[in-house]
Amino acid sequence: MNKTEFNKIKQKLDSSKNILITGHMRPDGDAVGASMGLYLFFKKSYENVFVMVPDALPDSLNWTPNSKSFIIFDRPKSGAIKTIKKADIIFSLDYNSLSRVGDMGKYIADSDALKVLIDHHPQPQKEKFDILDSDITVSSTSELIYNFLELFGTPELIDKDIASLLYLGIMTDTGSFSFSCDKPETFIVAANLIKHGADSREIHSRVYDSNTENRLRLIGYSIYEKLEVMDEYSTAIMSLTKGEFKKFKSKDGDTEGLVNYGLSIKNINLAVLFTEKNGEIRISMRSKSGFSVNSFAREYFNGGGHERAAGGRSLLSMSETIKKFKSLLPLYSGELNSINE
Ligand code: 5GP
Ligand code: MN
Repeated sequence: MNKTEFNKIKQKLDSSKNILITGHMRPDGDAVGASMGLYLFFKKSYENVFVMVPDALPDSLNWTPNSKSFIIFDRPKSGAIKTIKKADIIFSLDYNSLSRVGDMGKYIADSDALKVLIDHHPQPQKEKFDILDSDITVSSTSELIYNFLELFGTPELIDKDIASLLYLGIMTDTGSFSFSCDKPETFIVAANLIKHGADSREIHSRVYDSNTENRLRLIGYSIYEKLEVMDEYSTAIMSLTKGEFKKFKSKDGDTEGLVNYGLSIKNINLAVLFTEKNGEIRISMRSKSGFSVNSFAREYFNGGGHERAAGGRSLLSMSETIKKFKSLLPLYSGELNSINE
């Protein structure tokens, strides 16, 4: 974000009655960390600040500082709509398109507020926002928020909770500093957050050592019974139906990270997880190199995301969805198998 953009935002904040911060649906560590981190920072200087996401936080993030302050759009919708309507400035964090906030999107689109996008996904919906701080080379939105907070020149306002939330966002979006963090800046920001009080060990443990027995058994079952490896396309897939979720008493968020097991196989370039949820098939995709899951999800599965992590959906049955997916692989065998060159 440049100085002119920052000044415009700062002026608007100082003259706003109501400030609204929003994050995307099925909020992940980065959406929660960036939006609640920014909320807590603003609360130190401004009176009426609100933070809203379309649906509830998964159990793995319910422990995060101040998580009770999230307004969940659906509960009840009427109150949330009022909050959007009265906002003078709206921050859209960690999403590039209003379609990523479901029904909330149309109320944001209709608002006269100053709309600020802070995000790291490719192809932002430029025309929907007044100010765009969009950088796909940055690890996470939480890293962008840290850089934004620094521009206020009040580092003493970044307390332990804010630092922990932003650290959480960077940690989860980089797979604990294993990808999307090839620039020193990410580590410098992480180090600064530790200086501000973030406890890296505790945050890691809270996120990754919070399995239930059922979840662990679901993961075991998925890998042992459901993993299908297609060496000819350097691809590994897994699928879970509604019935299987029921069998393991699964909760939302139980499949978080599951897709990565397929990708961890040597010489596998594309891993996909199909899950049956809310009457549709959700598709989660990861790739290692030379294959854009963002383009693939956009083109065939009504989705999108990043170059190497994306998602989409299908209204076909599970078996028809997988059939469609498999029929597309031959078109991409060159890109997929480039990992073996
Ligand atoms: P996940 O597989 O973890 O659900 O999603 C991986 C990434 O893909 C997310 O960080 C998000 O950016 C993106 N993504 C997931 N689902 C969708 C979708 O339906 N539409 C778009 N545009 N992006 C998605
Ligand atoms: Mn993110």
